[in-house]
Amino acid sequence: MTLKTTLIGAALAATMATGALAEGLVGIAMPTKSSARWISDGESMVEQFEAAGYDTILQYAEDDIPNQLAQIENMITNGVDALVIAAIDGTTLSNALENAHFAGIEVIAYDRLIRDSEHVSYYATFDNFKVGVQQAETLVAGLEERFPDVEPWNVELFGGSPDDNNAYFFYDGAMSVLQPLIDEGRVNVLSGQEGMDTVGTLRWDGAVAQARMDNLLSANYTDAEVHGVLSPYDGLSIGILSSLKGVGYGSGDTPMPIVTGQDAEVPSVKSILAGEQYSTIFKDTRELARVTVGMVDALLKGGEPEINDTETYDNGMKVVPSYLLEPLKVTAADWRERLVDTGYYTADQIE
Ligand code: BGC
Repeated sequence: MTLKTTLIGAALAATMATGALAEGLVGIAMPTKSSARWISDGESMVEQFEAAGYDTILQYAEDDIPNQLAQIENMITNGVDALVIAAIDGTTLSNALENAHFAGIEVIAYDRLIRDSEHVSYYATFDNFKVGVQQAETLVAGLEERFPDVEPWNVELFGGSPDDNNAYFFYDGAMSVLQPLIDEGRVNVLSGQEGMDTVGTLRWDGAVAQARMDNLLSANYTDAEVHGVLSPYDGLSIGILSSLKGVGYGSGDTPMPIVTGQDAEVPSVKSILAGEQYSTIFKDTRELARVTVGMVDALLKGGEPEINDTETYDNGMKVVPSYLLEPLKVTAADWRERLVDTGYYTADQIE
């Protein structure tokens, strides 16, 4: 028996020791604890599944694909009734899901689409294209505000991890706003680096983004200033901002470029208040958990999960019926209303 199965066995024994007859057992496979949003997702799900009478096994794979696969296989072996999976690489789970299917297990793709498998029952996520649109809209609003007399604006583009289906939706959403401005000559990508195959950031790694920003600056901006950076995730924005600060942006008479983000993570909200990062996108993980718990509950009780999209998410084998939640833009002007008044954070966590 491996350490992992022992751990799952212990988790099961612990939940079973409560003695209550559960509605079922749900395996929750999350990608990593290195980003706070996934910790919130896991906590909200455990809390809400338990309130609905379910037992849970929650596991994080620290962005290691074989680790996540082993965790999912163990959950299957341990007899879960449903799997909720936020994939590290959305294309690597086909065999595991085949096994889940033969064991009669329902599979929910959580936040990230699982590709290349017909055994994905439903998909709970946010409107990912809209996330990208909102990122670009805040970028342009910030450029107009901070650099009203400069045009064209020099903007560099960053994409998310190429093995995450969401990354393409974010990028395409953003480019639906930025491409017309590039075509009109109002925005200039000085490096010429465009397209997910060029600007993607494997595993959403902030250090990779920082290194790429360093290279962009030294290769293109010794005689020019960068005014904006499209960043699809707060963890990348932090790396990008340190690169920018390292060469003097945000001090003296060199203003900080407008840098976007996503997830409203605490360090980035603080950075927004400090005038460094300009914006982020808030996706209420409590709501995503609520939708997911509702889907699993309906499926296990023979009902119909609530969905609001049957067209957008083709995973290569089928169009996965989905529920899309609404993302919200956050800037220094509205962070309190968005994040504190909704009870997502306390003011003390930020100020
Ligand atoms: C999620 C984003 C997150 C990113 C990095 C994406 O799949 O939708 O909210 O910023 O992964 O963790």
